[in-house]
Amino acid sequence: MRTLDVVRAWGCILAGRAPSMSIEITRQCPLSCPGCYAFKADHLGAAGSLSNVREFQGAQLVAGVLSLVDRHRPLHLSFVGGEPLVRWREITRLLPELESRRIHTQIVTSAVRPIPLEWRNIRRLTLAVSIDGLQPEHDRRRDPATYERVLRNIRGHAVTVHCTVTRQMTRRVGYLREFVSFWVKQPEVRKIWMSLYTPQIGESSPEILPLDVRERVINELSALESVSEKLELPAGLLEAYRRPPEVLTLETKAPVFFDARSTACRTAPEFCSSPARTLGWSLPARGSSGRAKYESRLCDSNGRSRGAGS
Ligand code: SF4
Repeated sequence: MRTLDVVRAWGCILAGRAPSMSIEITRQCPLSCPGCYAFKADHLGAAGSLSNVREFQGAQLVAGVLSLVDRHRPLHLSFVGGEPLVRWREITRLLPELESRRIHTQIVTSAVRPIPLEWRNIRRLTLAVSIDGLQPEHDRRRDPATYERVLRNIRGHAVTVHCTVTRQMTRRVGYLREFVSFWVKQPEVRKIWMSLYTPQIGESSPEILPLDVRERVINELSALESVSEKLELPAGLLEAYRRPPEVLTLETKAPVFFDARSTACRTAPEFCSSPARTLGWSLPARGSSGRAKYESRLCDSNGRSRGAGS
């Protein structure tokens, strides 16, 4: 991040605005990943599940996004889903508009379909492609966005690979090194981000890293730092994974996006449900107020999450 960006972000915060915004641009997704939070019953808080809200398309969606952007004037905007590529036509129309407003846009995708080549002309764009481990594990979890398809669909682009480490990737020594080595070699890959599977409160899942495994993974990731400059693992990030804050309280106002809720971005990577490593919080709705409390979630050795309720 450039100094100018930091100054602009602080200017934005001091003016009472959130520098970062995340929009679930569609609820549609051809994948069915285990642990997907997007379709959980309480994903939108009081509004329930993503399936309960209206889906906007075409000109209405483009106009809606731009009106939100012009109202909140974020510096950084993430499109998440569902699968954002389902709305590739609308995003193709939005990107030049966002670029002209000097907004950095991030699209978090499974790369299940070809990424439009004209997106290469957008300077302030990050394409974050989610890859969940080496081919056997990834293909099992993320079919139809298989390795073969992803490699074909990112051709001609510069992408950031984002991997969430789950329990399955920790059973073999050297797995993470192999993963990084594979993606470092791909010419389309500009950066690699790694994060740790973070369960929802009360979640019980074989994907969760028990505390001792989590510690080992963090040590392994520290040792990988020198593998390639493409692997972005700042010391502060590893430290945040090692010692996440126990309880984090944020003052927020009720978040809104059309009749859905935006994805809350929390102030530590430990809390991010998307690869966006941005500082921000839920979108404030004018005239409304509320208080949200987020807490760190670690797991006990049985793979169950623990943490204070909100
Ligand atoms: S790609 Fe994302 S939205 Fe789709 S099923 Fe997987 S986690 Fe859920």
